[in-house]
Amino acid sequence: MPPQTIRKKSEDWELVPNLLDYDAARENFSWEHELGLLDGLPGGGLNIAHEAVDRHASSDRREHLALRWLDRNGEATDFSYGDLSELSNRFANVLRDLGVQKGDRVFALSERLPALYVTALGTLKNGSVFCPLFSAFGPEPLHSRLSIGEARVLVTTESLYRRKVASLRESLPQLQYLLLVREKPQGELPDGTLDFQQLLDGAADTFPIENTGPEDPALLHFTSGTTGRPKGALHVHEAVLAHHASARLALDLHPQDIFWCTADPGWVTGTSYGIIAPLTIGATMIVDREEFEPERWYGILREQKVSVWYTAPTAVRMMMKYGTELARQFELPALRFMASVGEPLNPEAVLWGQEAFGLPFHDNWWQTETGGIMIANFLSQPIRPGSMGRPLPGIEAAIVRPSEDGSVEIIEEADQEGELALKRGWPSMFRSYLHEEERYRKCFRGDWYLTGDLARRDEDGYFWFIGRADDVIKSSGHLIGPFEVESALMEHPAVAEAAVIGVPDPMAGEIVKAFVSLKPGFEAGETLQREILALARKRLGPAVAPRQLQVEDSLPRTRSGKIMRRLLKARELGLPEGDTSTLEHPGGR
Ligand code: ATP
Ligand code: MG
Repeated sequence: MPPQTIRKKSEDWELVPNLLDYDAARENFSWEHELGLLDGLPGGGLNIAHEAVDRHASSDRREHLALRWLDRNGEATDFSYGDLSELSNRFANVLRDLGVQKGDRVFALSERLPALYVTALGTLKNGSVFCPLFSAFGPEPLHSRLSIGEARVLVTTESLYRRKVASLRESLPQLQYLLLVREKPQGELPDGTLDFQQLLDGAADTFPIENTGPEDPALLHFTSGTTGRPKGALHVHEAVLAHHASARLALDLHPQDIFWCTADPGWVTGTSYGIIAPLTIGATMIVDREEFEPERWYGILREQKVSVWYTAPTAVRMMMKYGTELARQFELPALRFMASVGEPLNPEAVLWGQEAFGLPFHDNWWQTETGGIMIANFLSQPIRPGSMGRPLPGIEAAIVRPSEDGSVEIIEEADQEGELALKRGWPSMFRSYLHEEERYRKCFRGDWYLTGDLARRDEDGYFWFIGRADDVIKSSGHLIGPFEVESALMEHPAVAEAAVIGVPDPMAGEIVKAFVSLKPGFEAGETLQREILALARKRLGPAVAPRQLQVEDSLPRTRSGKIMRRLLKARELGLPEGDTSTLEHPGGR
């Protein structure tokens, strides 16, 4: 695919990509230089909220639109950088007045409401640690995260409080303050809670920001729980260097952009790129209160003139399910760059972007632990559909084989499979798994952080995802990565989603079993199943192709949209399902 040229977005500005020459950008990169692009605080201090908001609020960008929030009806409420600065100052004052200290953990459990963004930024200004929770969690996952994280403050909505939190309070003795956002006030506030808005209104709108150091804790994110019990990954203020650099280089964000990250701040993408990164750039970000609905989403892209769009494979698959025709009905002249993260993006989906929007999706890879994008397909470089792209400037990635003696063997040769590893020391690297020292230590071998994902690197330095180490299938001496098999299945026009697992087999050790869901208009039946299996065999050869195929209405996924292969496997083998706290439809199938 040829390199993308940048479109002229409007009459008065034209863009040059932030990264033009990949090799030169890598060579010339230094984190010191990146630090120089930010403000910093006196005496070597660094605070994410200062870089995201106050830096712009004290410049001629003060009145620039920072956040446009869309309510259920699509009505917009606008916040300039100046507004966000004052509101977050107010919230920081609220925390300080309550005696909430630097390092204390402030949790948020809220739908995407303006208060959530104010909470995040005000918490950081106070030097406290911001811990977002996904609003659709039930009481049990909430309880475990609030207690692991020793929450001192929780900002939530009145309705979520009544439905989910009230019954947990007695068993969370360290949870001192409950601040409720009242969308539709329901009589008196419940006992022992405070009114978020009232506190905000009563607080001063100036605040001497806490002079946090680069290594001071800032964010606590729980992982998606795709492979097991979620882990609490702790990040520090220095992470902002990576947020800013990756937004510039991997997402090509410019201050003129209107950026829409569709992820919820309950997950790391929705905080790193749905709050912090676009603000550090000085861009405008769109926040939609509602969930995915194709016409709504296409309408937002068009009405809000979104220029850079960051979404996830699960959303792309849904859009594909609704069809190209629908997407094409929406003219999107402002849209100039589309990226995706969270799961492997099948080549089929990359190309569908081109068909439906005239632009391909650029896949990029990272994890909660890495805090920011590590590997990406860049705007100015050719995309290799199915590849995650190349490491960002400042990031060393390698394919390694951990050895028994505790060291790692780095595989220099191209096209070899192994574990994806990153050279430690980038600013947004997690600094611990909360209360799990040993688990944290085990992720590192010498200078290398082991990601738990398997991949290979081609001779031009592009990385190709094979699967999570936990999901890889061993069949007749072959190691089979689910991604390749799933991509082949997705090529069939009837297949909407695919997931493969290994099931025990006396001869082969394991054989590949596929689960698929179908696009509307296709009926499950033996002929169709045979046809899909035949296509996979043709693409992959008999050693790798699935032997069995089962059609499901939908596949189990995490609330952040990732297919949970471990659950398919547990169900197939009649084993316990393990931690299902992040499952989208607990109990349902
Ligand atoms: P848990 O660690 O609790 O099992 P999780 O790994 O799904 O959950 P996240 O940190 O949200 O939690 O997800 C990161 C993982 O998602 C990566 O390690 C990788 O397996 C997968 N992933 C993210 N982006 C991509 C991508 N572009 N291609 C392939 N896989 C990806
Ligand atoms: Mg993980």
